[in-house]
Amino acid sequence: MALLELTTDVSSIKGVGPAWARKLTELGIKTVEDLLLHFPFRFDLRKQAQPIGSLLGTEASATVAGQVLSVKENRFGRRPFFQAEIGDETGSVLIKWFGGGYLRDKINRDTQLAVSGKVNVYRKQLQFVNPQFQILYASSETDLQRDELMPVYPAGRQLSSRMIGSVVKRVLDQTERLIPRWFDAEYLEQRGMMSRPAAVGAMHKPEERDHWAQARRRIAYDECLIMQLGIALMRMRQISRPAHPLANSELIDQRIRARFPFPLTEAQDRAVAEIVADIARDRPMNRLLQGDVGSGKTVVALYAALLAIARGKQAAIMAPTEILATQHYNKICDYLEGSRVRIALLVGRQKPAERQEILEGLAAGEIDIVVGTHALISDGVKFSDLALVVVDEQHRFGVTQRTSIRGKGFAPHYLVMTATPIPRTLGLTVFGDLDVSVIDALPPGRGETETMCVSHEQMPKVLESVKKELDAGRQAYFIYPLVNPSPELELTAAEDAYRDLAGGPLKDYKLALIHGQMKPTDKNAAMAGFRQGEIQALIASVVVEVGLDVPSASVMVITHAERFGLAQLHQLRGRVGRGSDDAVCILVASPTTEDAKRRLKVLVDTNDGFQVAEEDLRIRGPGEIFGTRQHGLPELKVADLIEDFELLRLARRDAFAIVREDPGLNAPHHQQLRREVVKAYAGKLNLLSGA
Ligand code: ADP
Ligand code: MG
Repeated sequence: MALLELTTDVSSIKGVGPAWARKLTELGIKTVEDLLLHFPFRFDLRKQAQPIGSLLGTEASATVAGQVLSVKENRFGRRPFFQAEIGDETGSVLIKWFGGGYLRDKINRDTQLAVSGKVNVYRKQLQFVNPQFQILYASSETDLQRDELMPVYPAGRQLSSRMIGSVVKRVLDQTERLIPRWFDAEYLEQRGMMSRPAAVGAMHKPEERDHWAQARRRIAYDECLIMQLGIALMRMRQISRPAHPLANSELIDQRIRARFPFPLTEAQDRAVAEIVADIARDRPMNRLLQGDVGSGKTVVALYAALLAIARGKQAAIMAPTEILATQHYNKICDYLEGSRVRIALLVGRQKPAERQEILEGLAAGEIDIVVGTHALISDGVKFSDLALVVVDEQHRFGVTQRTSIRGKGFAPHYLVMTATPIPRTLGLTVFGDLDVSVIDALPPGRGETETMCVSHEQMPKVLESVKKELDAGRQAYFIYPLVNPSPELELTAAEDAYRDLAGGPLKDYKLALIHGQMKPTDKNAAMAGFRQGEIQALIASVVVEVGLDVPSASVMVITHAERFGLAQLHQLRGRVGRGSDDAVCILVASPTTEDAKRRLKVLVDTNDGFQVAEEDLRIRGPGEIFGTRQHGLPELKVADLIEDFELLRLARRDAFAIVREDPGLNAPHHQQLRREVVKAYAGKLNLLSGA
């Protein structure tokens, strides 16, 4: 047989027929490399087998191994069972599996078997009933001389962990030859790591637990490193392009500040200073502006935009939805009233002629600021001199998408705003290509928001207190979850509630319904009515946009709060308490799971978005939040970004150092890393020319 290579098809492995090969392929295992990198996710300890003759019949758990002496099928009353008798040099024992008929094809006379479970005596015969068992393929396996770690592989319906293990065994002795080394001995020694081939081997067949932990650490590091190399390359490419330096001056600063009806907070000033320093350079800024809802990010972004305009350039501000874009637009228009700054809103609902005019204005440099949705740039809008892009990201964008926006031939400065506090791990991954500014304090004069959690039975009382608020001239949101993920059914909950409330408890008040199925114009009309105070309570499905800013809204009632995620609840809560009045957020919920209870308690206990985010990450685990893939990052199979945070940091430092030294990964000793990065990012990034 020809020598196996990493690219060899699994069907060429000795003993793997077409049927097994097909099953392996279903698990994504097509090549020898896939197989070697298909790691067990845990190990079970197989206890050392004891001589059968030493069984007493009272053991709560015992393990024995031996050869099958006979098999038969029988019934106990009406329950069929499959029985085998196994023996070693010291004695024999019966094994019964109720409902074990399927074993007739697997266990025959002479099969080598290890079983483990409770032992008892029935009619003077020692027996195991429904024990765990394992068919041993090599008879040498029967001398279980010591406790052994049994790998548990991610398996499929057709293919057990055990079967995968038996295939892996056939290639495992080739790892040293097959698996490429990434680093020299010195690099590994400095980090206390084993070689990659050794780690791959030990991932499948460690000598003991610590050996496995060491191997796992190396493999997790490798995953983090490749991810971070991609991020470092993106960054390197971003800053390798020239940008317009936008120098500030005292006069410009004064004129910009005069536009705001309030002094900037200290936290805003700090963010402004960081941004101003960035955009004064001739390399593009890449900065994340993070701040809790209502902390005043928009004002900071507008500062940067006005600085760009003062220097004769254009700025674009993008929001995730048309409603938010419209709101940004209106707010910016207010701030800029009476100025010469030319500002336009570009959204899908505009008439072609109007749109055309705006596009021409942008191309001719007659518009200074354009506000729109994320489609603004990806649609290939032409600017005469775009120098700043602000993206209100709200978590809906990914690293690779950010890169593609900027790959269009110009290199504007780039500011991402997010209201979602970024846990440390996300700062190094999903937002890992950005510098970070944090606005960590709210503007003064805000009311306090109190959060409480009540059951559905208390709804009448809730409505009474809402009425008092409305009578006092304040406004309320009622939020309902999607009843069903299907869009047709989406409106039911909010719509039913609207009918009930408008026809009953709140019939004397002005209500409006808003949900995702409405036309944008109708949505906007409802929003405008609410903002102007004509509407007292907004009954909304969860589509109510996270960035809505209505300072006189002071009551937020979230029904079925247990169905929302923590981050989402925090975002929703941030819609109230934006004015000087104290606000209240009422979570109406009947949580049944521990997780749901914990989520709600976190909100009642703290208003601090950062704490909420950390807690969210802890409750949900990184997998769900990351969905690294959806952010365009390679999937992590072994590394756990919370558990392995220190390793992630190490990998990031190493990756950035490598890319600083060799930005194209062209050095001979980086060729393997280069291949791995290209493979992991699979064309999502055009990072390396010729790759
Ligand atoms: P964010 O975008 O972070 O949610 P905004 O920029 O929309 O926050 O600001 C929220 C509200 O706070 C707005 O109504 C804004 O006018 C007000 N605001 C912003 N900065 C200040 C400040 N320094 N002092 C007082 N009010 C402010
Ligand atoms: Mg905002």
